[in-house]
Amino acid sequence: MRYQVAAPDLSGNEAAYVKDCLESTWISSQGRFLDEFEARLARYTGVKHAVATCNGTVALHLALAAMGLGAGDEVIVPSLTFIATANAVRYCGATPVFADSDPETGCIDPESAARLVTPRTKGIVPVHLYGHPCDMDALDLLAERHGLWIVEDAAEAIGAEHRGRRAGSLARAGMFSFFGNKTVTTGEGGAVTTDDDQLAKRLKLLRGQGMTPDRRYWHEALGFNYRMTNLAAAIGVAQMERVDELVDHRRRLAGWYHSELAGRSLLTLPGERPEVKHAYWMYSVLLPEGVDRVKVMQRLASRDVETRPYFYPAHEMPMYLDCPSDGGCPTACELSRRGLSLPSSSYLSKSDAAFVAEALLESVSERRVRRAA
Ligand SMILES: *Cc1c(COP(=O)(O)O)cnc(C)c1O
Repeated sequence: MRYQVAAPDLSGNEAAYVKDCLESTWISSQGRFLDEFEARLARYTGVKHAVATCNGTVALHLALAAMGLGAGDEVIVPSLTFIATANAVRYCGATPVFADSDPETGCIDPESAARLVTPRTKGIVPVHLYGHPCDMDALDLLAERHGLWIVEDAAEAIGAEHRGRRAGSLARAGMFSFFGNKTVTTGEGGAVTTDDDQLAKRLKLLRGQGMTPDRRYWHEALGFNYRMTNLAAAIGVAQMERVDELVDHRRRLAGWYHSELAGRSLLTLPGERPEVKHAYWMYSVLLPEGVDRVKVMQRLASRDVETRPYFYPAHEMPMYLDCPSDGGCPTACELSRRGLSLPSSSYLSKSDAAFVAEALLESVSERRVRRAA
């Protein structure tokens, strides 16, 4: 038995729907599964429009391009995120400006973001890290005060909620990733969600090479080919049929881990702020100070328990060394050093969680993983 961090669960109608694509020859970027996937995703998220793309990174690029982001503009992003968040800003020729993290949730700290606003700031891209929604109340206030837009990076947060509204519906636009390790997957895939009819039109235009809808081969804007295939959408429809089950399992697993680990060690367990529903894409803990994470991961791997370190702070990457950050983002750096994500796949049972938790506690308390004082 291997305890995988985030294996895809394809046990529903995925194979049948893919077979339908092959037999009908609708394998490219038109077809009934695409329409149904977008409709289901929009309904689930609670928005009018979902625009499916071939991956999450381009969904974010598409959203920012459709917002008109360009050279000379600045966008505030968290430093503690997957690199795609910052890259999408850069693809538009704009500058990512890196905010620090809230120590409790790891999400963007609104006070840090506030310190980074300049006359060139156009927007904020908060990331619901590992499935925990950001402090949208404070971010909305900040955005309103300075006339900024917000685009949610909800790549890790399908099923998460903030004050009863789903991630992806909490701002002018949101985006999801359906990469193979995400809670809902299409292999590679993504989507932009929005309530704004004009923005949705622009998103569709730019997704399809900027071609005027009623005039073939007339390209009114510099667009992209960011379309999703019907094949990927077929997997997506089957996944969306079971989205509640997939999200519920993540939350149940988090509960099992929590009851095994709470009060038993110096690990810091993930919190859930009272106004949110955490989607627990991954159940992530902070190791105690002074524990060697590499050794802990090796010990766990020797017992078939796969784990994942947190992201490195994006502002430390070579291509972003010249971009502003809030004082070097000390909290993001500390979380990045100590964070570890546990197996969160949907096949893991209560007894698997107990096994993993026990293995983790043993690995952390082993004397030889502690650095010499
Ligand atoms: C997965 C992810 C993305 C998009 O990734 P793709 O692999 O391109 O689908 C963007 N932002 C975050 C925070 C992610 O975790």
